[in-house]
Amino acid sequence: MDLRLDDKVALVTGGSKGIGMGIVRCLLAEGARVANVNRSEAEGLALEQEYAAQGKDCLFIQGDLTDVNACRNAVEKALDRFGRIDILINNAGVNDGVGLDAGPDAFLTSLQRNLIHYYAMAHYALEALKTSRGCIVNIGSKVCVTGQGGTSGYAAAKGAINGLTREWAVDLAPWGIRVNTVLPAETWTPLYERCLAEMDDPEQARADIERLIPLEHRFTTIEELADTVVFLASDRSSHTTGQILFVDGGYTHLDRKCTASGAVSEFGAAGES
Ligand code: NAP
Repeated sequence: MDLRLDDKVALVTGGSKGIGMGIVRCLLAEGARVANVNRSEAEGLALEQEYAAQGKDCLFIQGDLTDVNACRNAVEKALDRFGRIDILINNAGVNDGVGLDAGPDAFLTSLQRNLIHYYAMAHYALEALKTSRGCIVNIGSKVCVTGQGGTSGYAAAKGAINGLTREWAVDLAPWGIRVNTVLPAETWTPLYERCLAEMDDPEQARADIERLIPLEHRFTTIEELADTVVFLASDRSSHTTGQILFVDGGYTHLDRKCTASGAVSEFGAAGES
């Protein structure tokens, strides 16, 4: 399927690693031009050069998104370079473990890491998106519907992103701007690897999680996540808006009694064989 992204410009937050990098690579492969906002200049410029060597156009914009001025700057730089923005992908975030014990200041800081820049990016990109009849895809997390414990800030931010998806879809429908959110659950990324590395037995921890993922008992890949995001960002999803879509191998919703690896299954097709 041709996603018809050849003339499109996408602005992606956190595109130097993990899911964001997967999204950038997929957008470039589909012919879009991309601006990637991230913290590390060395990492971002190296990627910009790597893509340029392949004939692909990915502008790196340095910035820490917890500063709203960096958000405004990112939109301005993308517009200076490309003259338009068709797609905004709000992706950067971190499960920073700010729990009830951490206090209001830490909670606010967590919201700055995970929520405020989603709003700020949409705010500063709004006029450009109205002009292009563009779209927004947010990356959320299953944590906002399942809870996790010890991570109030992240859970609140991701819950708010679900709310804003519906709110913005209504708000921006008159301009033909679509807004959707993709929720990962267990996607193998540097962030995830870092989390498991802090555990006593990272290999066992990984196996324990994989056992609970119904579809093929494995993590979602960044490519699987990115393919869905880029499809939603393309005109091939031209009548899809306000949707909250889980790309998680069934992890969030399916009945573990029936799907956990090793569970005695007397349900469904497996139980019949
Ligand atoms: P990752 O591997 O850590 O990559 C995130 C990227 O975003 C990094 O390049 C990071 O830069 C950048 N970034 C983060 N905060 C930033 C900031 N304030 N300013 C500029 N750049 C920033 O994380 P990931 O696993 O791909 O996660 C991406 C999104 O998916 C997040 O919103 C996360 O909540 C969501 N998610 C992931 C999973 C999962 O299983 N991986 C599950 C649920 C939700 P640095 O290298 O400088 O940190």
